Amino acid sequence: MPSYNPLQKFGLNSVNAAFSRRADGNMSLSFGDIGGSLENRKKFLWGLGIDYRDLITAKQVHGKNIEYVTPENKGSGALDYESSIMATDGFITDQPGVPLAILTADCLSIFICDPKRPAIAILHAGWRSTEQNISQAGISRMREKFGSQAKDLFIGFGPSIRSCCFEVEKDFKSNFDFGLVKRQERVFMDIALINQKQLMDCGVNKENIFDPALCTFSDDDFFSFRKEAQSAGRLISVIMLK
Ligand SMILES: [Zn+2]
Repeated sequence: MPSYNPLQKFGLNSVNAAFSRRADGNMSLSFGDIGGSLENRKKFLWGLGIDYRDLITAKQVHGKNIEYVTPENKGSGALDYESSIMATDGFITDQPGVPLAILTADCLSIFICDPKRPAIAILHAGWRSTEQNISQAGISRMREKFGSQAKDLFIGFGPSIRSCCFEVEKDFKSNFDFGLVKRQERVFMDIALINQKQLMDCGVNKENIFDPALCTFSDDDFFSFRKEAQSAGRLISVIMLK
């Protein structure tokens, strides 16, 4: 299976969405072995009907800033990392043909579609952005910019490190009052579960959230920073309005 669309089950025909797997190769132009990354992107995105030269990527900083982008921003970070959009961990757009991308190796990517408007978003949710509630920030931005209602949104999660493998310090309890799992005196974090709750707290319907429950650490189909450290490549999560 070359790719996976976490919004597929909702049957939305206005949007293209997918995340890549290890077999698709490293998609980062700054991390891991970047020698084949442009070719990998070209091939993967071609299958989705996306020109890799149009891709919009971010200099991700584990914050909760979310940028509104338009066709004018197409190509930011497409051919070199330096041209990526500065200091942001999410994108929103209501423009067709604008491919939004997030690169991850353990962090959660969140795909959002409002088929009514239509409008889309993609978010990069590691534990720091989750702590800052980037999910809520994304929904707020879509409401402000597009008038999107939370109850109309469809959401899909990419693969991420899960509570089976994501051990955190015991004092993490001060950061999160939900989503920590204790096993044999060790503490594990469930980033996806926390984001799911944050989204539902904003008014998103539970049945409109799809979580494929894929763990990047346990499943060799994906890159994992915790497991592979500096050599880890990055998966791409991409969404585009047709
Ligand atoms: Zn795992």
